[in-house]
Amino acid sequence: MRFVFIFVSLGLFCGGKMEKDKFAKERELMVKYQIEARGIKDKRILSAFKKVKRHLFVPEKYRYKAYGDHPLPIGEGQTISQPYMVALMTQLLKLEGDEKVLEIGTGSGYQAAILSLLAKEVYTIEIIPSLAERAKKILDSLGYKNVHVRCGDGYLGWPEEAPFDAIIITCAPEKLPEPLVKQLKEGGRIVAPIGPEGGLQILTVFIKKKGKIIKKEEGGCYFVPMRGIIEKIEEKKE
Ligand code: SAH
Repeated sequence: MRFVFIFVSLGLFCGGKMEKDKFAKERELMVKYQIEARGIKDKRILSAFKKVKRHLFVPEKYRYKAYGDHPLPIGEGQTISQPYMVALMTQLLKLEGDEKVLEIGTGSGYQAAILSLLAKEVYTIEIIPSLAERAKKILDSLGYKNVHVRCGDGYLGWPEEAPFDAIIITCAPEKLPEPLVKQLKEGGRIVAPIGPEGGLQILTVFIKKKGKIIKKEEGGCYFVPMRGIIEKIEEKKE
């Protein structure tokens, strides 16, 4: 009986360790070949990507693909972005560690977890209730205490917590929402994909200087569209 017990617990121990090691290795390779090799050299960013367990943010059936060089479905027709895109947007935010950051489009919560290791406080808004709840649960269970999740329409931002040093939008509006510009600090930046659903979207950096917005386009990208209030505003214009 004693032997059986030892055998079983040894098996569990090894199984658990093997799974942990397997993902750690995959994570390391993801950082090396998908992120670092494409020019992202900031040590703090690379270290954050080595730490955050991306596989825990994707649905169980896709876990084996979690470290692949592509986006993945997270339910409700939404996706977690490709690791490199998360890294590139993070780099464009130029965080130093003391910032208050707002994210629009929590999705899986993965980008928020990365940001939480690079900024002081992260406020993130998700429009789909089931995704907001799931992200909140996973972020809480992994101990990301400086991430605050809210379910709502990110078009309106988070006025009670404004102003923000940096804002990242991970769904695509056709035009930068005005309330977000208002909630950005002087000298702050917004990183966002701008463009129509299914059409050409441009990853853009907006910097607020002397109350004005300076725009810098970084390149093409593909994101799910921003939903909610912004669609009604666009309709009215037509
Ligand atoms: N950053 C996420 C990926 C998000 S995908 C991650 O790391 O997993 C884009 C998300 O934006 C989707 O979950 C979508 O539901 C959400 N979204 C779309 N329109 C929104 C809006 N107006 N306000 C907040 N979230 C929105």
